[in-house]
Amino acid sequence: MRAFITGVTGQDGAYLAQFLLDKGYEVFGLLRRSASSDVVADRLRWLGIDDQVQMIDGDLTDLSSLIRALERAAPDEIYNLAAQSFVKTSWNQPLLTGQVTALGAANMLEALRIAQPNARFYQASSSEMFGLVQRSEQNEHTPFYPRSPYGVAKLYAHWTTVNYRESFGLHASNGILFNHESPLRGIEFVTRKITDAVARITLNTARELTLGNLDARRDWGHAQDYVRAMWMMLQQDEPDDYVIASGRTTTVRDVCRIAFSHVGLDYRNHVRTDPIFLRPVEVDVLTGDAGKAQQVLGWAPQISLEAMIAEMVDADLVRQRGVLN
Ligand code: NDP
Ligand code: GDP
Repeated sequence: MRAFITGVTGQDGAYLAQFLLDKGYEVFGLLRRSASSDVVADRLRWLGIDDQVQMIDGDLTDLSSLIRALERAAPDEIYNLAAQSFVKTSWNQPLLTGQVTALGAANMLEALRIAQPNARFYQASSSEMFGLVQRSEQNEHTPFYPRSPYGVAKLYAHWTTVNYRESFGLHASNGILFNHESPLRGIEFVTRKITDAVARITLNTARELTLGNLDARRDWGHAQDYVRAMWMMLQQDEPDDYVIASGRTTTVRDVCRIAFSHVGLDYRNHVRTDPIFLRPVEVDVLTGDAGKAQQVLGWAPQISLEAMIAEMVDADLVRQRGVLN
């Protein structure tokens, strides 16, 4: 089997590539040009698979590069994970977010139609589409109400995927994934920002951590559990959309408590807040109901929030010690 992953240098792309390589897939990844190419494949290097993924250069905003990439990779499965994925940045760069996160998905679907129409397609949809939540637990039937340019862009990509499935009979599925983290999470996201700070404070290279809204609640899971669900969706006879979540919601404050207590510290002595990290509007709370994925796919998360945060703190301690030595 051959798989093509956009966003292969990101958190999910790296874990998905590892998962598929372990299953014996030939894995191709889209690589956009960067002046910092020496650090671009850091996540793949961290997992020890950088020399096993076959990179093809291109960009989600450049349709012809996607067509050429598919002609070269000839994949059975396409995972569209590339995006401008950071919610806060989407208010500062709303048009770029639209071009990459929304229209980029349409580009990928067009490339598929033109170059590889029988490939199965996965779109990385997001719980951010629920935004101002319309039900206390969100599932596939919950109305969407996005609260950021990112959420709006993801909604366009989501419905385009549904529409292409219905219009052209494509095997195209949306995974509506709730927040998922790991040691490979981007450092701007709150969990990794916290675990990185815990490591620095432990090693005395930082004193405090400045955050925004400590009362926001998210349904956090582990990226390794969640990439398995992506693959499971593409193994079904029929394409469909699935919520992937842990079903447990936790405040940012509690994540601080868990992370600091892992190294024997009290977060209240180290965390302060600054309005600079608040958003124009907030997604206050997300809680997913992954009942359908459990029943149809047989998917269930295996890694707890506590175990994940401990793994992230330990990995950041390793990284920070490496910097000091
Ligand atoms: P990351 O931000 O870690 O990775 C994003 C990837 O997209 C990177 O490989 C990046 O490349 C690539 N990319 C960005 N712009 C372009 C472009 N114009 N052309 C080609 N590639 C591009 O995201 P995650 O791995 O965390 O998430 C994967 C997907 O799942 C994203 O679409 C995200 O929005 C979505 N999602 C994530 C959730 C989460 O909690 N992690 C929850 C729900 C959905 P580069 O390395 O060059 O920057
Ligand atoms: P998101 O759910 O995709 O926006 O993931 P983030 O990890 O960026 O943010 C999760 C929640 O943490 C949001 O409600 C943020 O407002 C909140 N948060 C509080 N302080 C911070 C911070 O300093 N950085 C980030 N990224 N989020 C913060």
